[in-house]
Amino acid sequence: MKTINRSIRKMLLLSIIFTTLASSQLLASVKEQVAQATKDYAATHVAEKKSFDDLVNVASEIPTIVLDIRYATDNNFTGKTVYTQPVCYLRRAAVEKLKLVQEELKLQGLGLKIFDGYRPYDVQGVFWKLCPDPRYVSDPANGSKHNRGAAVDLTLISLATGEELEMPSVFDDFTEKAHRNYDAMTPVAAKNCKLLEDVMTKHGFKGFSFEWWHFNFKGWEEYPLLNVSFETLAAN
Ligand SMILES: [Zn+2]
Repeated sequence: MKTINRSIRKMLLLSIIFTTLASSQLLASVKEQVAQATKDYAATHVAEKKSFDDLVNVASEIPTIVLDIRYATDNNFTGKTVYTQPVCYLRRAAVEKLKLVQEELKLQGLGLKIFDGYRPYDVQGVFWKLCPDPRYVSDPANGSKHNRGAAVDLTLISLATGEELEMPSVFDDFTEKAHRNYDAMTPVAAKNCKLLEDVMTKHGFKGFSFEWWHFNFKGWEEYPLLNVSFETLAAN
């Protein structure tokens, strides 16, 4: 009887050792697969250290432009400061077009105020966690055109007063008020919204249906998603 008990104990022990070994191997294999998948995604989608030579500092290129980089403050939909610096970088070709927009608006006593430009890819995950609605935040699986340095959020200001012109909603209002076809906007807001859309469209940008402030630079597909910090860009 004692011998049988010893054999059973031995078998049990061996089976525990095998199970542990098998599951740790399985875990290692899953971990490896996840790491590889992440690496593949990063290699094909997110450029870490290249393809950002033509990202330029908009304020340096267009000194008259006003910046109000909301994600560098807590005055945004997250209620938190998510950018390390209040700066706006965009692709050079887009900045050249924004110069023309700014010049044209000046003739009417108006100018641009920018809320957001290039957004490091990692920030997209933070936004998606807080607002997983593709109408207002791009799924990190696809990335945002902001992550490519090829989208800009902006509004119009009066050059005389520096005040923002009336628009259909405040920036980052994730309701139907921000939609371009919102039918209850005031006539003044509708006129200003259309003026902004017309001048941006004329110079190579395309408006977005759900956010009156968001414009994609035409040809954005040519630019890769980037996960480069503002500090790296400033040192570039
Ligand atoms: Zn935007």
